[in-house]
Amino acid sequence: MNPRLRLQPEAIGVGMTSQRVRDRLIERLRETGIRDERVLNAIRTVPRHLFVDEALATRAYEDTALPIGHGQTISQPWVVARMTEALFEDGHEPKRVLEIGTGSGYQASVLAALGLEVHTVERIGDLLRVARKRFRSLGLNVRSKHDDGRIGWPENGPYDGIVVTAGAPALVDALTEQLAPGGVLVAPVGAANAQQLLMLRKEADGTISRRDLGAVVFVPLLSGTIG
Ligand code: SAH
Repeated sequence: MNPRLRLQPEAIGVGMTSQRVRDRLIERLRETGIRDERVLNAIRTVPRHLFVDEALATRAYEDTALPIGHGQTISQPWVVARMTEALFEDGHEPKRVLEIGTGSGYQASVLAALGLEVHTVERIGDLLRVARKRFRSLGLNVRSKHDDGRIGWPENGPYDGIVVTAGAPALVDALTEQLAPGGVLVAPVGAANAQQLLMLRKEADGTISRRDLGAVVFVPLLSGTIG
């Protein structure tokens, strides 16, 4: 656990955002196949209700994606858990990770709560500004950049893990190139309304192995930046 994560009173939650409701989500994630206790613990710790509009806070611990404005969504908790878990599979111990698509900042915060050095890139300035406030108020140390994430963030790489949280028809070579030897990339790949979650590992000799983690639906990975 990241010792920097000191929870403020509003992060503890009441009623539909209480610890009991949050524990129910953890049970559900366990039942649906999430095994890594560190990941479950990070999800238990990060207050998802602070990453959505107040009007949606009561739904924050349901296992569903929710709108965050600008036509974007905060991913379903199961998907966040599965992508995060993939980074730790087969005894892999990542240190430095890159996320493409900061959105609400929730996935980045879960990664930071695991003690990882997190870098995240978002193309919509308005979303990034709000996410940065959340990182600050939760005391999480996340480095972020307003840019088109399809170019990655080569200056700070290579990365032990890369998580792409927007769907594209094909894998982005620039991102695979920024993986360190032994590093894992997780990305939704496929058509706009249905993608496969792919897990790629760059072996020590540079060859790439891949696994399909199942069907998912993400908002699209788009080019360029907006305000
Ligand atoms: N990880 C987010 C989920 C975000 S939804 C969370 O935890 O809330 C996907 C995000 O990817 C959106 O915010 C969208 O604006 C962003 N995105 C799409 N294409 C992008 C690109 N090329 N570079 C950076 N961000 C991108």
